[in-house]
Amino acid sequence: MINVCFNCGIYRADKIIDPSGPNAICPECGYRHPFLQLPLLVVSGASGSGKSAVHHQLTGNIKEAIVLDADILWRTEFNQPENNYRDFMETWLRVCKNISQSGRPVVLFGAGTGVPENIEPCVERRYFSRVHYLALICEDEVLTERLKSRPAWRKSSDPIYVEDHLNFNRWFKENYDKVVPAIELLDTTSVPVQETANQVALWIRKKLSGHNTH
Ligand SMILES: [Zn+2]
Repeated sequence: MINVCFNCGIYRADKIIDPSGPNAICPECGYRHPFLQLPLLVVSGASGSGKSAVHHQLTGNIKEAIVLDADILWRTEFNQPENNYRDFMETWLRVCKNISQSGRPVVLFGAGTGVPENIEPCVERRYFSRVHYLALICEDEVLTERLKSRPAWRKSSDPIYVEDHLNFNRWFKENYDKVVPAIELLDTTSVPVQETANQVALWIRKKLSGHNTH
């Protein structure tokens, strides 16, 4: 679903949503564009929490959704912490909205995408029925150990990198129930990757069950 109006040709990402259609109404001419308003599922966590391994396990094994890693679109110009990485978040929501129009919701794996404050204020957020957030967490010692055991080229044993991700990991534990909507947590501390992947698959299916995606 493109942001250019089929009737008047004007580009507006901020269409007015009528959930009864659902329709996305052009603010310029009132044209009603029928669209699929699906949920978006976001799986997050600090580096070392296990999200890449889970993403790898689930790719190709969850037929009812499209599983994507947010890192594939990352470029240095998106690195805008001062505005909550807004361009990056809007880009991803626009991509997920368009994928959803084929009838399957997206499960997006990423770090900053798992912070509701980065996603919820976005213009493109309105095209989803809701966003479900899940964060993988683990104990500090385990996160540190996992980062330090990575190959040297990834530079993840750098003390500043480790500290950043320990802080992010703690942020989820301290704020999961203070943000809106709340983030659900999954502790991966002493859980084998396959088991964590199974639990994430279960979470995905639970969130999608009963949701009419067609
Ligand atoms: Zn229009």
